Amino acid sequence: MKGKIAIVGAGHGGLVAAHILGRHGYKVDIFEKNKQGEVSYDWHDDVTPHVFTRLNIPLPDSKHYFWKRDWSFVTPDGKSIIRIYQDKEKVDLSMERRPLVELLLARAAERASIHYEARAEGLVIKDKRVRGVIVNGEEVLADLVIDSSGVHSVLREQLPEEYRIQRRPREEEVFYAYRAFYNRRPGSKVPEQHTNKAYLKHLGEEGISWCIYDPSDTVNVLVGRTRRLDEETLQRGLQALREDNEIIGDQVLRGGFVVAIPIRYPLSRMVGPGYVAVGDSAFMTIPLLGSGIATSMTAGHILGEVIAGAPEKPLEMENLWRYQVRVMTEFGANNAGVDVLKRWLLTADNDDISYLMSHKVVDGNDLKKLAVGELIQLTPLDMLHKVSVGYRRLGLLLKVNRVLMKVNKVKRHALNIPPAYDEARIQAWQDKLDRLVNS
Ligand SMILES: Cc1cc2nc3c(=O)[nH]c(=O)nc-3n(C[C@H](O)[C@H](O)[C@H](O)COP(=O)(O)OP(=O)(O)OC[C@H]3O[C@@H](n4cnc5c(N)ncnc54)[C@H](O)[C@@H]3O)c2cc1C
Repeated sequence: MKGKIAIVGAGHGGLVAAHILGRHGYKVDIFEKNKQGEVSYDWHDDVTPHVFTRLNIPLPDSKHYFWKRDWSFVTPDGKSIIRIYQDKEKVDLSMERRPLVELLLARAAERASIHYEARAEGLVIKDKRVRGVIVNGEEVLADLVIDSSGVHSVLREQLPEEYRIQRRPREEEVFYAYRAFYNRRPGSKVPEQHTNKAYLKHLGEEGISWCIYDPSDTVNVLVGRTRRLDEETLQRGLQALREDNEIIGDQVLRGGFVVAIPIRYPLSRMVGPGYVAVGDSAFMTIPLLGSGIATSMTAGHILGEVIAGAPEKPLEMENLWRYQVRVMTEFGANNAGVDVLKRWLLTADNDDISYLMSHKVVDGNDLKKLAVGELIQLTPLDMLHKVSVGYRRLGLLLKVNRVLMKVNKVKRHALNIPPAYDEARIQAWQDKLDRLVNS
């Protein structure tokens, strides 16, 4: 046995890492607070199929997913709607989440012990180093704790100051979403074209809503806002969706509650002595979309590879740092750039966003990229075209240009992460990244 690893939460990244680490001789224990069979949510989410090929993980049975090709984006003023058909190679699968998590749990169980109804209440910290976790009131010692417990991780909150790991997300970095699947209103007409409508800055508020007509003849509804979603805001959003979509029935068939999603760049420090964060606990979602399944699985795979492949001291900082470097290089730097764009979009004038979309300054091609979390790269010809369609608002175009320059600056800096563990260099890099994104 090479060492003891405690994974807290049956998050996607932790489960992927568990399989690899168990296979490489570590004693892995997973602690999940929910009961067996009740982990994760009873609904479907969009995931790229490429992550399964890349990580060599089989797809769940095809009855658990369908292809999601198009989206229709409604401008904040509600006056324009732009439909996009995603390029074939970038189309997502809308996948039932429970069967996916069950598949990852079954793979993990081949190599690790899974403890259900095991709630981690805190960390065991001795001599300012993480030495394990407290589960259902008992100390469980471990050489490494992998935090896969999601956005509101209680472990991260208890880390010593010296770890320089941000303990909590800021208020504006969390999105609260009400998600429910309704029956189709009896007698209502099935929409012929805009079946997947996303309302950007719905009702001019900070967030989005959607109304999606699913192949199973149900209606998938989301009302999400940053910072908080109080009852009044939720009811206002639902009412507006109903007025625009007669298909939404009265019965909630699945879901029907509010959940939190991090919408920010990954932690600028996600490793410390005896501790690593993966998935939502390290804020790995794509900030504009809130999608984090593929990135969490990828990060779990990277973590497994980094530890399993280390020639020496696999669980020490010198090696764990390599995990953060690979996460930042493979998708974290891109997400940091997307975060800059998201911060601007959330605070930008709604008329400006409506103008940019309705005049096709931001066109279908741009939206297709943004819909999968890719950054918009403009050639001089693109710029010329955008100026030609948006010339009436040159001030606004200049503003957008400044934002895009900042996006690139942040991404470049994030990619410039110190490749080897060197505390002084890392601190300087981390401080600058946090400053740049938040300025
Ligand atoms: C409404 C909604 C829609 C979304 N849509 C998409 C989408 O379409 N595509 C996409 O890619 N992503 C989507 N996401 C985001 C996605 O859910 C996450 O990014 C993804 O699940 C990765 O998070 P995770 O696995 O790290 O953590 P989580 O999914 O939060 O899992 C954490 C696990 O840890 C357990 N846990 C928590 N605390 C403790 C504790 N103290 N002790 C023991 N166990 C604990 C929890 O029970 C849970 O099983 C959506 C999220 C929401 C809420």
